[in-house]
Amino acid sequence: MLNPERLELVRLRHGLTKIGFANELGVDRKTLQRFEKGDYDLPTASVDKLLAFSGYPEEFFEDKTSLEYPNPNGVSFRSLRSLTASSRNSAMAAGALAFVLDDFITSEYSVPRSNLTTEVKSVSPAKAALSLRADWGIGLRPIGNFLNLLEQHGIRVFSLTEGTRHLDAYSLWRNDKPYIFLNTLKTAERSRFDAAHELGHLLLHRHTGSSHASAESEADTFASAFLMPKEDLLAEIPRVRSLHDIIHKKRRWGVSAAALAYTLHKMGRITDWHYRSYCISLAKNGRDKEPNPMERESSQIWEKVLTDLWKRGIPLARLASKLHIPERELNSLLFGIATKESAPESARVNPPLRAVK
Ligand SMILES: [Zn+2]
Repeated sequence: MLNPERLELVRLRHGLTKIGFANELGVDRKTLQRFEKGDYDLPTASVDKLLAFSGYPEEFFEDKTSLEYPNPNGVSFRSLRSLTASSRNSAMAAGALAFVLDDFITSEYSVPRSNLTTEVKSVSPAKAALSLRADWGIGLRPIGNFLNLLEQHGIRVFSLTEGTRHLDAYSLWRNDKPYIFLNTLKTAERSRFDAAHELGHLLLHRHTGSSHASAESEADTFASAFLMPKEDLLAEIPRVRSLHDIIHKKRRWGVSAAALAYTLHKMGRITDWHYRSYCISLAKNGRDKEPNPMERESSQIWEKVLTDLWKRGIPLARLASKLHIPERELNSLLFGIATKESAPESARVNPPLRAVK
């Protein structure tokens, strides 16, 4: 008997309706319902179809363990409203797979723990950003690799390769662990801003949730202030002579030209007229193209873990079969690290991780 919950995950991952799913399995909706209630086992032909179209191994469906989904009330979904239910479900199901993977890794490795304290109730988002910078000992300095900074502070970051551009990122607290899921179809700069935006949600909205009207703008304000501290901006850019200045200077903070122009305009360093003309010029480039682009950030923790597993004779394919999750699903959660040319053989020097067992 297969576990109906696990079929449900695969249905959600594929963004299928119940009827569409029944069609894929070659049964009618009622037969599927009877299976879901535990009254009826699926015919072998349907199981074969399930394995073939999903790419999931049979062991995944035979496993009786329940899967834990991100709690929708504790999740910040950026641009939630623009998502279709199927994209949202698929991204949530990716979260459930990430928890399986994360639990395995946590049982094998000692990874950094979160020290994110969330007592920021009466503080403005910009002040909260500066006090977190102070807590993390980075003062007003520009941040090199933002993703690694998050990881060093115990925030688990996974990638999403959902086929929708409407989903930027989401974040949540699971028990006392903060998680960020990032859509890696965005430009490197936008991903970085999305991650900072989610950090804002984790810090500011842990107890209030992020469904209130001002939550999005609070997270944006936090992200701007965290990535581009005002004092540093004003010192580095005393005046803006042209869009070229912005495109040249933005690399310091690892933000998009649009984000830097927006912030400088808000601070009064750019007139309305100039700001508008910069926006028009940048829009001509296209939303998915960034001038003077930075290199995409990737996870250092996952790279170290994969490298160590590989050295222990457990390449990603073996890990996948151990967890009964398709390799492509793990790879899409892990920034595609395992398929990059340089990884995982080229271990970085002295990984600070230590195997627990
Ligand atoms: Zn948001």
